[in-house]
Parts: sequence; C-alpha cells; structure tokens
Amino acid sequence: MIWFRWLPGLALLMFAAAPVVSTAADEPLRIIVFGAHPDDAEFKTGGTAIKWARQGNQVKLVSVTNGDIGHWRMAGGPLAIRRARECEAAAKVMGTTSQVLDIHDGELEPTLENRKTITRLIREWKADIVIAHRPWDYHPDHRYVGVLVQDAAFMVTVPFICPEVPPLKKNPVFLYSSDGFKKPYPFQADVAVALDDVFEKKLDAVHELESQVYEGGASGSEEYVRNVPPAADLAARKAWLKQRWERRHGDEANKFRDVLVEWYGEEKGKGIRFAETFEICEYGRQPTKEELRTLFPF
Ligand SMILES: [Zn+2]
Repeated sequence: MIWFRWLPGLALLMFAAAPVVSTAADEPLRIIVFGAHPDDAEFKTGGTAIKWARQGNQVKLVSVTNGDIGHWRMAGGPLAIRRARECEAAAKVMGTTSQVLDIHDGELEPTLENRKTITRLIREWKADIVIAHRPWDYHPDHRYVGVLVQDAAFMVTVPFICPEVPPLKKNPVFLYSSDGFKKPYPFQADVAVALDDVFEKKLDAVHELESQVYEGGASGSEEYVRNVPPAADLAARKAWLKQRWERRHGDEANKFRDVLVEWYGEEKGKGIRFAETFEICEYGRQPTKEELRTLFPF
C-alpha cells in the first residue's frame, strides 16, 4: 500500500527531471565521438553535435588521452586538469557530455586493455553512431584511436568479451571524421552537414579550448601568443577565431560541395557556407541512404 501511495509522487519527480524539449522523431539518437586529445572531437564534430543535441539527441565526446603534453609551456597533471575543464566548458555550450580518459598524451597504444575500454564505453552509451579518426593520420594517438574504434566495431556485439557490460543488440554505424591525409586513400565524404545555423555556437564551444586555440597547444610559442588578441579584448579574440574557423569550415564545404548538393538539394546545397563531413567505416552496420537521413535528421 505504501508503494502505491508513493508512486504518483515518484512518477511526478521523474517527469519533472526529464528533458523538456525533444524534437527527435521517436527515440533520441545516441552518439559517441572519440577524439585522441581534449579538442579533437570538438573540432571535428562540434557543429554536428550541437545540431543533434538541439533535437534532444544524446551526444558524448570522449578524449581518449588526457592531453597532458599538449602545450609548449606547461605539462602533466595541471595541463590535464585544465584541458578536461576546457572540454567540460565546451560541452556545456554544445549541450553534450564530455569525458577525458586518463591515458597519457602521446602514449596511446592499440592494446587489448584499451580495446576493452572503448568497447565498454560504446556499450555503456548504447550508441547508435560512433565517430572516430581514420587510422591514417599524422599523430600516433589519432591513428590508434582509429584502430581501437575499428577493433571495437564488431566486439561491441559479442556477448562474452567484457561480459560485465551488456552487448549491443544492434551494431552501431561507425563513421570517420574528416582529415586531409591522402595515403592510402583520401577521406571520402559520405555525409555532409551544413553548419551555417550553428556556426556561431560552434565558435563559442571552440573558444573554450583556450590552451589550444589561443595558445597554440604543443605547437604554440611566446611569439604565437603575441599574435593572438589578448583575453582582455574578447571581441578581437573572437573575431580572430572566427576568421580561422570560417576558412576551415568554408574549405570543407567547398571541397565537398557535390555531397552538400546531394544531401540538401541543388539550391540550398550550393549556398551552404560551412560544413562538417563524415565517411562511413566499412565495419559496423552499413546504413542505407534512407537510414543515414534518419541518423542525420537535419
Ligand atoms: Zn589530436
């Protein structure tokens, strides 16, 4: 009897805690993005993440290393903590979830232990979509994130590996984020997402990754910082950032203009200024064109 008396109150509490706005068609999509460092997932997929999140979908950005050598002036624990906070701040802007794994920057290896970690994370998130670097990239950590995610692509469905986390009944769609590397083959865009309506918001997220965008990360220097407008001049700093990212996403839109036209139609596709693009990995579920449109319902 006590149970019945308390149940309405409990139900009300749960209802009140549920997200208020959801425009996703049926079940929200669940997306997990793996980047090697605490900025890669944000840089590569931040705009698309904002679009998914705005519709009530659940997006998690994971940095597989803690980024603790990713600066020219500081390193170790303090840098790892700083970068995790930057990612948290960016996640707040994007409406996403952030996680930074405690693996040293520059030391990621495609080990069995790491494969299991990635397998568990994909399962725990109950991912419909998994995104990672391609395994051909200048940075060993980027390459091994690609390898580890590929290695997990089948394992997430196999019951007796990592049996403490239930396997996924449906294999997710695995995607690669874009890059400019050409060997063994250049990145092929299968999906192109227009960022024009979320571009400013993505900038606000990238703005939070201060140690990287304004201080240059591992490639920065005193001179680099001198050429960036100071934090005190916020407007100039953001204008500086905007110019760089307009170029980056403008180039991506122009490079894959045909995919944008295919995706959005001739008229709209030709007018899109900024884009993020994705390639389908041949491991994991192979979506039809129709299914792809339900996974990218923009
Ligand atoms: Zn990186």
